Amino acid sequence: MTAPEELAERVRDGDLRIHELEDHADHDTAAEARRLFVERETGTDLEAIGDYAFPAERADPNIENMIGAAQVPMGVVGPVTVSGGAADGDHYLPLATTEGALLASVNRGLGVIRDAGGADARVTKNGMTRAPVFRVAGVAEAAETVEWVENNVEALRTAAESTTSHGELLDVEPYVVGDSVFLRFAYDTKDAMGMNMATIATGEACDLVEAETPASLVALSGNLCSDKKPAAINAVEGRGRSVTADVLLPGELVEDRLHTTADAIAEANTRKNLIGSAKAGSLGFNAHAANVVGAAFLATGQDEAQVVEAANTITTMDARERDDGTTDLYASVSLASLEVGTVGGGTKLPTQAEALDVLGLRGGGDPPGSNADALAEIIAVGALAGELSLLGALSSRHLASAHEDLGR
Ligand code: NAP
Repeated sequence: MTAPEELAERVRDGDLRIHELEDHADHDTAAEARRLFVERETGTDLEAIGDYAFPAERADPNIENMIGAAQVPMGVVGPVTVSGGAADGDHYLPLATTEGALLASVNRGLGVIRDAGGADARVTKNGMTRAPVFRVAGVAEAAETVEWVENNVEALRTAAESTTSHGELLDVEPYVVGDSVFLRFAYDTKDAMGMNMATIATGEACDLVEAETPASLVALSGNLCSDKKPAAINAVEGRGRSVTADVLLPGELVEDRLHTTADAIAEANTRKNLIGSAKAGSLGFNAHAANVVGAAFLATGQDEAQVVEAANTITTMDARERDDGTTDLYASVSLASLEVGTVGGGTKLPTQAEALDVLGLRGGGDPPGSNADALAEIIAVGALAGELSLLGALSSRHLASAHEDLGR
């Protein structure tokens, strides 16, 4: 009997628990034993899941109970032509998805952006947040706690920054609800997405708050952060990178390449992305920004659950009349809370690190934070391309059907 088979039998017999296998074998053998156990329990063949291309040990910080790897097809779009605060020039953007036509559509939009000379992009705000919730006796203690916090931001900064050599505390914003006090800490986490960094730093600051005020910590995350949930606070205040990309497309380009007009795209955007989203009570005023963000997250090792924060993107499309009477299209996307990193988390995994290599953004930037800023700007231009392509398709179809109707 091979070692994996023996280990699988020990799990089946209750002699070993499924998460204890790495204590008895190397990571690949443990994964194989777990896979054998699951195959036998479920009557399945997990050959494809077991056919992964990296040492299982590399994934140790990223997964428990590993049985293999989910393989999502990865393609590339571009070049993404961007003039940004951090990103500059042409970049190929790897995207991993199972949605056919997505890359073709984004590529079409990128081609139009390229022909217009490229998009501008800027990170306008940067702050990863963690908001612990404290219990106090009532409003008097809440006010006392808030006052202490406001007068002691430097002490909180010293405590928080003692846990990290990269992170910087930017702000602490108090919120009071009855006998609950929330403190929304915001950090510049440089090239890390920063959720672990911010959580550890905030834990240290919370010890000081508890020592100096009547407040008792109830939860290190009080959901006002707000992580992995649709939340207006992220759409308004931002979380991670707030990034905007825009482009001015000459009217002829819109007609030649998107087969529609600036006016038609602007109307489709207003009625669909603005009015339709408002009527739906949506936090996202865009066509499908999460498509590009999600595919870029999977390719480059971001935390895929944080796609939800990027879905609050606002897309604007305006027809701008020129002196000669022709009309150009101004198009922008503003992602208020794009949580990205080029170090830490899943970015170290082999395929994800290679995808960051394609962008020239693996690891820490010089200066620190510039690689994550550049990644945010390139993803934003990708999202802009996706918006242009989809709105172009919608409005050209509308025009086509309108022409048919008129022709009858
Ligand atoms: P991390 O992998 O925990 O830490 C990254 C570390 O890299 C930083 O703390 C920093 O160390 C170091 N580093 C080296 N060069 C750096 C540079 N140029 N810029 C910034 N840091 C640099 O990653 P994280 O970004 O803090 O957290 C991401 C992980 O958190 C993901 O796996 C995600 O799934 C997970 N996550 C956690 C929570 C939570 O509540 N804890 C919530 C959501 C997601 P120093 O700090 O020592 O300088």
